[in-house]
Amino acid sequence: MASLSSKMQFLGHTLNMHVNLQQAIAKLKNGEVVAIPTETVYGLAADASNDAALLQIYSIKERPANNPLIVHIADISQVTDWAAEFSPLAQKFAKAFWPGPFTLVLPAKPHVSPVVRGNQPTVALRVPNHALTLQLLNQSGLALAAPSANKFTQLSPTTAAHVAASLGDAIPVLDGGACRVGIESTIVAVQGENWQLLRLGMLPEANIHTVAGLPALRFKQAIKAPGQHLLHYSPRTPIQLFTSREALVKNSNSRTAALLLGAGAVPDGTYFELHNNAADVAQKLYDTLHKMDALNAEKLLIETPPNEPAWLAILDRLTRAAH
Ligand code: AMP
Ligand code: MG
Repeated sequence: MASLSSKMQFLGHTLNMHVNLQQAIAKLKNGEVVAIPTETVYGLAADASNDAALLQIYSIKERPANNPLIVHIADISQVTDWAAEFSPLAQKFAKAFWPGPFTLVLPAKPHVSPVVRGNQPTVALRVPNHALTLQLLNQSGLALAAPSANKFTQLSPTTAAHVAASLGDAIPVLDGGACRVGIESTIVAVQGENWQLLRLGMLPEANIHTVAGLPALRFKQAIKAPGQHLLHYSPRTPIQLFTSREALVKNSNSRTAALLLGAGAVPDGTYFELHNNAADVAQKLYDTLHKMDALNAEKLLIETPPNEPAWLAILDRLTRAAH
């Protein structure tokens, strides 16, 4: 392997521009972007209080300016640096789910830049559950805006190699291995004692209800979470969901590739199998879709997950990918 990597460097093609923790901190403090690991997906990070740095995120991702960015913080004590209100209910959520794949959307303090807010009156905050990223946040003293490190509407990256595949190998990457959760965070907006689910993640929805105690309320003034496009999380190859293995066998051929969840009849052509377990499938989903996309198949046939609580976030992402 050593000879392969030196050969690739000789040819001027490193697979990624890897940086270590200290290099990542130096770059971020200098207003540069760095792709960072989290437990959900890799993020393209920049200093959340530096507009020039934030604008690079939008331009590299080709992300519309009205799609707000999630601000990653080291711990709960930093919420009030950004949020104008941290209500008892919001505190309950934070204490229950941080660090973890859970984002709180709260009313923003007036000084919070409209660039990070995507012009919304709210700010999104999360304490990620990833040891290396927590070290990065703690040692840099920065809060980091970090949307998924991929081009707008493309598949999210769950490895350092995925980042380079989408954004090119000039983007510095702090490699923290494959993401453990594999699907973007759950997003909940809170104002006072009212809350609203804005995006499903792998955190079971029932846990949110248990902590809230009260059912979700629609706000009089709806909280907007722009950027939840139907055309999202998409490979380049068209996706079709199937429910029965009979339909799969009928629709598959040498130009299709299929993704199977658990045992059953297998199709013609290439196929990938994942265990019929939601956490496992979430962890491997984007990596498998990246691999399937690279086959240049005519169509990707994907098994529809069960319509059960544990699978809803996966179902949501696949429905968007198939749109
Ligand atoms: P991601 O691209 O996975 O980092 O998630 C970003 C998404 O979080 C956005 O597309 C919005 O849906 C939501 N979001 C982020 N910041 C805000 C905010 N200030 N107000 C409302 N929703 C937000
Ligand atoms: Mg994204």
